[in-house]
Amino acid sequence: MLRLRDVTKTYDGKSEVTALAGITLTIDPGEMVAIMGPSGSGKSTLLNLFGGLDVPTSGQVMVAGKDLAGENEKERSLFRRSKISYIFQAYHLMPTLKVSQNVALPLHLAGVSSTEISRRVAQALKDVGLESRANHLPDELSGGERQRVAIARALVTGAPLLLADEPTGNLDSARGEEILKLLRTIHRERGTTIVMVTHDHHAASACDRLISLRDGRVEGDGAVGGGK
Ligand code: ADP
Ligand code: ADP
Repeated sequence: MLRLRDVTKTYDGKSEVTALAGITLTIDPGEMVAIMGPSGSGKSTLLNLFGGLDVPTSGQVMVAGKDLAGENEKERSLFRRSKISYIFQAYHLMPTLKVSQNVALPLHLAGVSSTEISRRVAQALKDVGLESRANHLPDELSGGERQRVAIARALVTGAPLLLADEPTGNLDSARGEEILKLLRTIHRERGTTIVMVTHDHHAASACDRLISLRDGRVEGDGAVGGGK
């Protein structure tokens, strides 16, 4: 699903910063992976490369079989919409749109018909247990419910790759636990490849594999103790 070969990313500024220093790694379809590391270790940069938001300074990044460096911005954007979905710590919901409308957004962008949109939105809300909230505004929901709306919006396109940036970062541990359970269910039932950046050891332990970064390098990469 994701393949990086000797990937380096540097940022120019007053002095050059090396955010990623020669990363080689493969994430197979259907894996659920946590990425951890101290602040500044390159986690966001890596997630941006996975998401096709940025390109490496050198080396190769393949996402779902495609080398995104060879594509123009429009092609990358189309590709992202069909293959990749995202959830964020801060949910990123549109405050003036109802829950159902928020979930429908990526389908509108993809030009899906309105009957198909209604069907898929209802199913996605059911999958995250929020059918009864379809007509509420995001403000009327708790943090955990907002994150479930964001997950429904991510699910609704059927993208095979889900990238999550601190998905439990704003939630107390009980709500965080619900979100992790939901992500594991999605992973198990749909085979969605999930990659999450997190500081939360509990979230990492919900994954099957943990990649640790330090100073732009992979410091550790291995299985997380099983049994869930
Ligand atoms: P993390 O997500 O682990 O905190 P980042 O990927 O954000 O790490 O950053 C890695 C390094 O790259 C840091 O030293 C950071 O300051 C630097 N960096 C990240 N983005 C930029 C940017 N747009 N311009 C310059 N330096 C950046
Ligand atoms: P567009 O169609 O405007 O190019 P996309 O539909 O590809 O945008 O992505 C939607 C939004 O998701 C982006 O504008 C960006 O804010 C966010 N996003 C995309 N990839 C990532 C990523 N790897 N990490 C964090 N945020 C991302």
